[in-house]
Amino acid sequence: MTTPLVEMDGDEMTRVIWRMIKEILIEPFVDLKTEYYDLGLKNRDATDDEVTVMAAEAAKRLGVAVKCATITPNAQRVEEYGLKKMWKSPNGTIRRIMDGTVFRTPIIVRGITPYVAGWSKPISIARHAYGDIYNAVEYSVNEGESAYLVVCKDGLEIKRKLIHSFDCPGIIQGMHNTENSIRAFARSCFNYALSEKLSVWFGAKDTISKIYDHRFKDIFAEIYQSEYASLFEEAGIYYMYTLIDDVAARIMRSDGGVLWVCKNYDGDVMSDLVATAFGSLGMMSSVLVSPDGKFEYEAAHGTVTRHYYAHLKGEETSTNSVATIWAWTGALKKRGELDGIEELSAFADRLERAALKTIESGYMTGDLIPLFKFEGVKPVKLTTLEFLKKIAENI
Ligand code: NAP
Ligand code: MG
Repeated sequence: MTTPLVEMDGDEMTRVIWRMIKEILIEPFVDLKTEYYDLGLKNRDATDDEVTVMAAEAAKRLGVAVKCATITPNAQRVEEYGLKKMWKSPNGTIRRIMDGTVFRTPIIVRGITPYVAGWSKPISIARHAYGDIYNAVEYSVNEGESAYLVVCKDGLEIKRKLIHSFDCPGIIQGMHNTENSIRAFARSCFNYALSEKLSVWFGAKDTISKIYDHRFKDIFAEIYQSEYASLFEEAGIYYMYTLIDDVAARIMRSDGGVLWVCKNYDGDVMSDLVATAFGSLGMMSSVLVSPDGKFEYEAAHGTVTRHYYAHLKGEETSTNSVATIWAWTGALKKRGELDGIEELSAFADRLERAALKTIESGYMTGDLIPLFKFEGVKPVKLTTLEFLKKIAENI
């Protein structure tokens, strides 16, 4: 390695797995270089969360980061860890600093069949993480009242539109988005598609939402035409915009292998639908991509608290490490690609194949056992540590 990875350590069971993956699957094979940031909750508290900001800035500077799952504190965690305050979600902080979009992709393995029989290739979901109903203002209206949309500048009203005059009680909602955020989202999606060689399907409802959704469609079309069309052609992929209901129908008929770009709410719903249809949370990878092409890889699941408490009591756990391994292989592959170190990318591929082969030959963690069906292979449940050692044997 030449350029170090930005390594963001985390919490609970995934912190335990993090160490094991490094010791068993990476350090014996790679002359690993990382710039280490401890995002474990104790250290975030000790540094007044400065460590999260420093880690995100390092990711912007070095270009590739790998992150362990972290606790987002709530009231109960403030008490459990004796925190100075209820620190914000580290992922939210990192996303804000990198201005990125999160892409989620299921990890496909023979023996674990998706519920939709035709989906032979993974479907990646890109969810816009800003605005719409998530930052909306809502209000309950009484009978006889009228609601207006009012726009002001310097305190002066410049536009007023009637929403509805209510002849019975009702509800209203005001939501927004910004062109800057939509542009950053579009670039992140197109960069990710190029990086993964995936065609892009974007669905919204511009026939009904003639200004709001239509602006998304227009911004995507403009950025695609002016910055990406020829790169997509070279890569043998395409961009398609169609109505969201049409995308839903096409996805069901497809064999997968596309990037499905979703507005915020659609992405919330569809990412859980797609994740579940493909099998297990432990088999879902996630990457944050900034509009200027910086990458932060992680597992899509959390810190697996229930398993951690069992681990603390000295019980053997059977926690699935696949998505966390994919965070490492994704980051190593990207580093290899950017620095022109073929052996590094090749090792990451080999590690992924070894992990898949381990499961296909019947050795897996408990979460996968009920999902596994492969003719002639009887699945064996391994502990967290045994599973990693089995993968190392297969490398
Ligand atoms: P979680 O850690 O994803 O775990 C929920 C349940 O899903 C687990 O109890 C387990 O089910 C199953 N599961 C998830 N990952 C698994 C794996 N790798 N192997 C086996 N089973 C797995 O979600 P949570 O319990 O809601 O959240 C725990 C903590 O994680 C919270 O503090 C939250 O803030 C944090 N979190 C962080 C991130 C992130 O950093 N990206 C994302 C989400 C949540 P069983 O108990 O049935 O075995
Ligand atoms: Mg959700």
